[in-house]
Amino acid sequence: MEELIVGVDVGGTQIRAVLADRKRTMLRRVNTLTPAHEGAQQVTSRIIDCIEQVLQGIERKQVLGVGVATAGAVNPRTGIVAKASNIRGFENWPLRDLLVQGLQLPVYVGNDANLAALAEHRFGAGQGVDFLIYLTISTGIGAGVIENGKLLLGANGWAAELGHVIVDPHGSRCNCGNIGCLQALASGPAIARHAIELLQEGKPSLLRARFEGDPTRITAKEVVEAAQQGDVLALEVMQRAAFYLGIGMISFIHAFDPEMIIVGGGVSKAGELLFAPVRALIAERAIAASQRSVRIVPAALGDDVGLIGAIALVLAETGTA
Ligand SMILES: [Zn+2]
Repeated sequence: MEELIVGVDVGGTQIRAVLADRKRTMLRRVNTLTPAHEGAQQVTSRIIDCIEQVLQGIERKQVLGVGVATAGAVNPRTGIVAKASNIRGFENWPLRDLLVQGLQLPVYVGNDANLAALAEHRFGAGQGVDFLIYLTISTGIGAGVIENGKLLLGANGWAAELGHVIVDPHGSRCNCGNIGCLQALASGPAIARHAIELLQEGKPSLLRARFEGDPTRITAKEVVEAAQQGDVLALEVMQRAAFYLGIGMISFIHAFDPEMIIVGGGVSKAGELLFAPVRALIAERAIAASQRSVRIVPAALGDDVGLIGAIALVLAETGTA
């Protein structure tokens, strides 16, 4: 009987693979760098290598399936990656079929943020909550929407790109080409950029010494730390990020009517600095009473969330969970 599952997380920097049992106990783990500039064929070969490594000495018949969480816009129904901005050549790339050919195993693929949402729903902060939104705020802003216990995919698998919802049409340019996407105003790089702008204006801040040494050393992490120490400039930056995040969430609440919004990713470590103003804004502006008190909670699963999502996908697709 098939007792083992392979979970893979393909990012712009790293490929991570694990071998797990049905209880999600991780038995083996392999990490390697993504050859993101060498093209799609190389990346695909590297993914297959990682999977072969975690499967060493394991018979194929013991494996229930392989789940792959990948960066980029991917259609889980066709297994084709339409586009991934951080992996060269992942353009209309038939990732799933190539992995099936290379591995001779059933393979299921999904967008990494979508599968993180599935993971939090099945095993994390959203257990038992059938209508939820998951947002991950780091270099970009990714999302997944769980509707009646299932991932909302849209016609082509592109649904729930909430980081590209426009929250200020006069705002900053996003790397998708549009102006004023939530990602361009509340992601880690957006927070760092805003802090640098204010520092360039000469405002006093705990960040000044670091900034004058080398402006590129100002990242969202330093801004959050300074804000937690009461730094006025850093607090102003975090306030603006929280404002846009709140504006975005009000629209998401009106669109999807969730019971809960789960927030993960590096920037979410700012905690109440972000959560408190976001909750206040939602309480003030959401239309229905039930929506004004929607639960906004931190993610529970940490750095392995993509891997756990890939495993959850295999369990869901094979009807074993
Ligand atoms: Zn965008």
